[in-house]
Amino acid sequence: MILPGATLGLLGGGQLGRMFTIAARTMGYEVIVLDPDTESPAATFATEHLCAPYTDTDALARLARECAAVTTEFENVPATSLESIAQHIPVRPSADNIRIARDRILEKKTIRDIGLKTVEYHVILTREDFESALQAISLPAILKTATLGYDGKGQIMISQPSDLDTAFYTLGAKPCVLEQRIDLASEISIVLARSICGHIEVFTAAENRHTNGILDISIIPARVNPTVASNAEKMARMLAEELDYCGVLTVEFFVDKDDRLMINEMAPRPHNSGHFTLDACQTDQFQQQVRTLCGYRPGKADLASSAVMVNILGDAWQQGTPAWSDLLVNPGVFLHLYGKKEPRKGRKMGHFTCTGEKVEDLLEQAIKLKRTLPGHNHELP
Ligand code: ADP
Ligand code: MG
Repeated sequence: MILPGATLGLLGGGQLGRMFTIAARTMGYEVIVLDPDTESPAATFATEHLCAPYTDTDALARLARECAAVTTEFENVPATSLESIAQHIPVRPSADNIRIARDRILEKKTIRDIGLKTVEYHVILTREDFESALQAISLPAILKTATLGYDGKGQIMISQPSDLDTAFYTLGAKPCVLEQRIDLASEISIVLARSICGHIEVFTAAENRHTNGILDISIIPARVNPTVASNAEKMARMLAEELDYCGVLTVEFFVDKDDRLMINEMAPRPHNSGHFTLDACQTDQFQQQVRTLCGYRPGKADLASSAVMVNILGDAWQQGTPAWSDLLVNPGVFLHLYGKKEPRKGRKMGHFTCTGEKVEDLLEQAIKLKRTLPGHNHELP
């Protein structure tokens, strides 16, 4: 067990790192953040900010020397950096598990090898693979880069065979997967935490609505058939167990019209769709990250109230600082801002969560409040 007073290392200092850092410092740990961004949102709360690239050998050596354990806020940290630290101190989740989550090809293969379902897909490494891919996957489909995609970036819709060539080159002619496009009934996600000893706590499934490829709204509990939610939980547990996973794991699922579940992808960390845990659960996902990193059992994940979480993007600053009072006057609504100075279009600047009893009432309240934010009044799915 790593006791409070010890120093924890964090690779990546965005909003997820910021909320991890707040949780860790609240529990009495020191935090050193490695992030090349001079304006890292996590740095404000960290004991120290190492402002250097993720491959900087001096910075990695300092983390290994001064920290009791290291975790990460995103999967795109070079595997070699994680491995070099892991030679000295625990890295949780493991470098191996992060490697799986960062690469769609390895991720889908791992999920299938475990016996869990994914969308039909075909790997494309070079244009030689086009023909077999088009034979295996019926159109419409989606071409996705194997690595570095996020918020719908690195994906192109393929409606007819001739789209593939342009799409592949637009994505940089890098390793890709061609994925069957699913007629989605809904999308849900499960966030869980697993300790080094194998204790698991699972948060209630969230139903996720995306706009322009970016998570827009999460609804908790997800409005799906209860057997769908419990099967998703079973699948997420199985994945964590088979990977001998330690830390917070998020599993994103597609649900089709026949209530069939497929794993879309996993994230080896807390997730945007788990932000409701900050205001609606006994333990939040960032406390779980601290607890599992330090060798403790995860805290109880029980849902204290229903919740609807809404992302706030940079678009809301079109006419200056948004009118936060519209949100804050509501006693059941909680505002979180990530301290980012530049409100760029599509950039995640914060979120708010409406809590209460009935999900349908909360959804109505959330949509009404969302519409008061400039650039957030598009039609909702
Ligand atoms: P990201 O890494 O950007 O989160 P995802 O693979 O999760 O990438 O895709 C983002 C969103 O695009 C999904 O949440 C879903 O709404 C939509 N999408 C992705 N793949 C498919 C698919 N095969 N069928 C239908 N919708 C999809
Ligand atoms: Mg996703």
